[in-house]
Amino acid sequence: MNTIIDFRLGDVVRLRKPHPCGGFDWQVVRLGADIGLRCQTCGRRILLERRTLEKRVKTFVARGEAPSPEATALPPADPKMEPRLWK
Ligand SMILES: [Zn+2]
Repeated sequence: MNTIIDFRLGDVVRLRKPHPCGGFDWQVVRLGADIGLRCQTCGRRILLERRTLEKRVKTFVARGEAPSPEATALPPADPKMEPRLWK
């Protein structure tokens, strides 16, 4: 199986190998050629190449919001959401 995974901001993924802190779960905090992840256990952030991450992901624990074509054109519906998404 070699499918491209549709990562979204806010996704929580479980990796095959644990972080040195013992945590398996990571939140997607940045998208691009490299994917930014924050350890849900110790809060540390890392960057992984997308293809490396695709190999290491075991499963999704939670999905972020579906990407919408309007998302970049319109201001956020709820300003309280913004710090959570972009922090
Ligand atoms: Zn950790």
